[in-house]
Amino acid sequence: RRRQMVVGNWKMNGSKQENTHLLAEVMHSWVPLTQVDVAICPPFVYLPQVADTLQGSGIVWGGQSINPNATGAFTGEVSARMLSDFDAAYVIVGHNERRRLRGESDQYVAEQFLAAQREGLIPILCVGESEEAREAGHALDAITAQLSVVIEKAGIGAFANAVVAYEPIWAVGTGKSATPQEAEQVHKHIRQLFGDLGSQLTLLYGGSVKVHNAAELFALEDIDGALLGGASLDAKEFLAICRCAE
Ligand code: 13P
Repeated sequence: RRRQMVVGNWKMNGSKQENTHLLAEVMHSWVPLTQVDVAICPPFVYLPQVADTLQGSGIVWGGQSINPNATGAFTGEVSARMLSDFDAAYVIVGHNERRRLRGESDQYVAEQFLAAQREGLIPILCVGESEEAREAGHALDAITAQLSVVIEKAGIGAFANAVVAYEPIWAVGTGKSATPQEAEQVHKHIRQLFGDLGSQLTLLYGGSVKVHNAAELFALEDIDGALLGGASLDAKEFLAICRCAE
């Protein structure tokens, strides 16, 4: 069995005070896991707070996006190098909210992926189809198209140091998770795209994962854990899901 992983994507949530409470509750009940890597991705401004609190705990941290450049005249942007400066381990790239709200293209996501690896971060590359694509029977094609651009640019070998997260857009924040069968079918397909590397790839599912559906998703052969949104904002739920993956 591959190592499992649970990542909490806080999205644009939290405050200094709320984070203090949430992190204290997480740390209070945290028991290090042997089979599961756990990470939290807060908004940029809270990265020092999260890093200071989680330092030495076994839980690591990361960013929710990056600009592919290292430094320069890019107002409002944050680079992979800056995340490294705060000892981030991971960075999410290609989240569907950024693809849609910020117009990030597959090509741009591929640049982010490479920039992350250049600075020693592990990219968590998100892919996933829209509801229309699924209904038209094009889910696998849409995912293949998103991944192909990054594979072409970075090379298949680069995925030995990367995580892929399958997040169907229609399942994110909707309370309507993909069924285990739907998720497993896509995960199997993604592994096949990677040839020999496929069996080693860390492949997460994201989209309305909660404590009530985590265990059945994690039991599937091709699912190595979860990328959590809402569930990562509740310490009890977050930890319960982490324990499900162990
Ligand atoms: P939810 O768990 O809130 O559906 O969000 C999933 C997600 O987008 C994680 O990146």
